[in-house]
Amino acid sequence: MTKYIFVTGGVTSSLGKGIIAASLAKLLQARGFTTTIQKFDPYINVDPGTLNPYEHGECYVTEDGAETDLDLGHYERYLNTFTSQANNVTTGRIYQHVITKEREGAYLGKTVQVIPHITDEIKRRMLLLGENNQFDIVITELGGTVGDIESLPYIEAVRQLKWEMGNNCLVVHLTLIPYLKAAKELKTKPTQHSVKLMSEHGLSPDVLVCRTEEPLYKDLKKKIALFCNVTQDAVIEALDADSIYMVPLEMMREKLDVTCLTKLGMPLGNEPDLSKWKEFLNKLRYPKSKVVIGLIGKYVELQDAYKSILEALIHAGAMNECKVEVRNIHSEYLTKENAKEKLQNVDAILVAPGFGSRGIEGKIDAIRHARENGIPFFGICLGMQMACVEFARNVLGHTRAHSTEMDPDTEQGVICMMEAQKTITQKGGTMRLGSYDCTLEAGSLAADIYGGTQIAERHRHRYEFNNEYLQAFEQNGFMPVGKNPKTGLVEIVELKGHPFYVGVQFHPEYKSTVENPHPLFVAFVKAAKDAQEENRAANLRQSSVVI
Ligand code: GLN
Repeated sequence: MTKYIFVTGGVTSSLGKGIIAASLAKLLQARGFTTTIQKFDPYINVDPGTLNPYEHGECYVTEDGAETDLDLGHYERYLNTFTSQANNVTTGRIYQHVITKEREGAYLGKTVQVIPHITDEIKRRMLLLGENNQFDIVITELGGTVGDIESLPYIEAVRQLKWEMGNNCLVVHLTLIPYLKAAKELKTKPTQHSVKLMSEHGLSPDVLVCRTEEPLYKDLKKKIALFCNVTQDAVIEALDADSIYMVPLEMMREKLDVTCLTKLGMPLGNEPDLSKWKEFLNKLRYPKSKVVIGLIGKYVELQDAYKSILEALIHAGAMNECKVEVRNIHSEYLTKENAKEKLQNVDAILVAPGFGSRGIEGKIDAIRHARENGIPFFGICLGMQMACVEFARNVLGHTRAHSTEMDPDTEQGVICMMEAQKTITQKGGTMRLGSYDCTLEAGSLAADIYGGTQIAERHRHRYEFNNEYLQAFEQNGFMPVGKNPKTGLVEIVELKGHPFYVGVQFHPEYKSTVENPHPLFVAFVKAAKDAQEENRAANLRQSSVVI
């Protein structure tokens, strides 16, 4: 029978519930249990696809084209398995479903209420992934913090499930033990309050994971256990870690997996086999070299806006035994005049995805700089589209070239809206989303990097390369080397004679995991390393000439 673990959060947001849930899942998976994770978000948007990165960080896209919370990215990166639409549920989706059913007459005669109708629908979705016994354990992360008004139906749903399922279900509560510098003391009161708040709603945690800056000494664990009604082995220390990828090992040291399995009445399985994970961590912690990558985007000041790209660079860095330092370069403040200065000393340039006009000319100037100076360039989605615009303007001489997204009236729309998008009026979930096949040209750099010519990657866009311009681009060495086999849509471009110039219409970052770093990112970091060595050698040659 499938067992269910619920991960709740208390005291404050940003404690890393997603990372704790993913780490626990990783340990259970490494013990031989089939495990998946899902996230329930208490906001009213049907999905996060319409939220901007200031509100919600990156929007993560699954194979089946769901626009989801970025925590699903962590789940995939840790577990190395795919998630789907079913792994992310919001209050908006729950209500949408219940209201549609109400209109269909499913509740005829009844008053439709939060309890039981909304909570029943929450419960149904919480158990959905466990149907057909495809997983031994389903972990559900509840977004928000206990005490939020909008979290209440979720807490109530978990309370009911615990009542119905007994020890087939478990609540892990992530909380904060603040360290007061002036008093030189760790404080347990906020945790006590958070557990009390939960218990007012009839739910009590079985395991407490305590985020802390300082180690929890034994008596403190004892005190927490006593006041919060949990066994002592269920007070887990979660010390701040240098890297999120250290957390599974920290949780293993604290026996979070053993405690959960024991409380669920499950066998412990094998000792977790984390050899691949440890190998990755070793490379991450002891790099042999370092490269600097300029990340050009309009949200670079936000930690979470380009989450999957940053993680993919970390995976690729480890694979190359090389530390990747990301230099954030705000595209809004980058101009033709200052591009050289701003991009000085970067070994490679990555132009980020995005929407709308803000900072667009900065992206184009950065791409021109990379193209003209032979600096490794990687453009993702909007980054690829702007590479086409830059080439059209500065090489093909189409001075007004643009994407019709930014300039709807341009007569030189080298990037234009996809035909299928033109009739769409609804905003949420209507882009070209999810995984599509792509055929690579044999002999291209991309085919070499992927080690084959048939790939599938995930998408999230409305605009595409305008094939009317294809010939002119090709004749000038700008090559469409990856195309959708059904529609001919250009998915990858390369530039002849440039050491590394790759633009992709899709988002390779979504598919990079610890155990399977994405080949394009690995090759990009390698190109940055090569460029650095080349420059060093050239500088040496130059200085020896001066001597
Ligand atoms: N705004 C562009 C489009 O819709 C690019 C999207 C993206 O970068 N994800 O096609």
